[in-house]
Amino acid sequence: MKIPTSGSLIQPVSLYFHIPFCTRKCPYCHFYVLPDEERFKTQLLSALDLEWKKQSPLLANKEIVSLYFGGGTPFLFGPAAIQKIIDWVSPPPSCEITLEANPENVTLELMQAYQKAGVNRVSIGVQSLDDSSLNTLNRTHNAETAIRAIELTHQAGIDNISIDLMYDLPSQTLESWERTLARLENLPIAHLSLYNLTFEPHTVFFKHRKRLLPQVPTPETSLQMLKTAVARLEALGLNRYEISAFTKPGFASRHNSGYWTARPFLGFGPSAFSYWEGRRFQNAANLSSYAKALAENRSPVDFSETLAYPDNLHELLAVRLRLLEGVNLSQFPNLPPATHATLRTLATQGWLELTNTHAKLSQEGLLFYDSVATAII
Ligand code: SF4
Repeated sequence: MKIPTSGSLIQPVSLYFHIPFCTRKCPYCHFYVLPDEERFKTQLLSALDLEWKKQSPLLANKEIVSLYFGGGTPFLFGPAAIQKIIDWVSPPPSCEITLEANPENVTLELMQAYQKAGVNRVSIGVQSLDDSSLNTLNRTHNAETAIRAIELTHQAGIDNISIDLMYDLPSQTLESWERTLARLENLPIAHLSLYNLTFEPHTVFFKHRKRLLPQVPTPETSLQMLKTAVARLEALGLNRYEISAFTKPGFASRHNSGYWTARPFLGFGPSAFSYWEGRRFQNAANLSSYAKALAENRSPVDFSETLAYPDNLHELLAVRLRLLEGVNLSQFPNLPPATHATLRTLATQGWLELTNTHAKLSQEGLLFYDSVATAII
């Protein structure tokens, strides 16, 4: 599937706003989140205003092709705050504007208000449609609530609906995973992101990993879960276009496609990443430090790196290979001979389909992307 690109000569860019509020912290989550409290929302909106004023001159002569509200649960920020940010940005009518939501918060009235504010794509944190798995994840919704949230979003006039699903969960069986996949039928979703659970440091699950790890599916069952999902989703018209993303025709995520093709993006809010002029940087992952820096007219960035040649090319190549359409190697004229040798080795192993001008993951390589990426980087 061809990833949408801008037809304009003006450089396409993306924007990301990190809205960190959650009703409670999920035990597997490693993102920067804060309790859903008004005082934090007021503080964040003022700081975002300052950051927007500081950074927006960088956007002169750029085309904003996607605007993404992630978190956290940006749905909790409220339509008025989201409207305010969209007004600052004033994106072109063709801009993809995504809002992340959690099922238990969705009402028809709120979703209509977001739609009116300009949101035209919603990503819902469904994670599972099996109540026992949702309990394991300590989520605040059940399967019925998730289905209802998808339907209400559709009723509100938003047809670009994406959901997240997770597998490799403690106590999850192939049967319970199949139950989740079966319930997708007839749901008005256009896009799906599929994740396997990982035990990230500084999470509750990581703390209890000795007890939980023996309960996760074996590597063989995990592989079977992935294969079952791919077959089920494709039967529903959701075609895999990236390692973990599936879409109906015309609904590939424009925002995420930017991450896979090195489109520049600016991130706003605490802990938000940016990638701009070859430099990657991140704001302080703390609302107070972030807001204080901006109030004192200092940069809120506390991490920055610029990868040198050839590491920059290796990283870009590895990320691009996530796309099933593969990579046009003529766009990488300066790849060192050693990297070409690595690509040939990966092809001999059966993980890459390689010609003089093109490289893409094979069916086997799709299952072992992490090893392919490690070899290249
Ligand atoms: S809802 Fe999402 S962002 Fe919030 S704690 Fe759970 S996983 Fe993290």
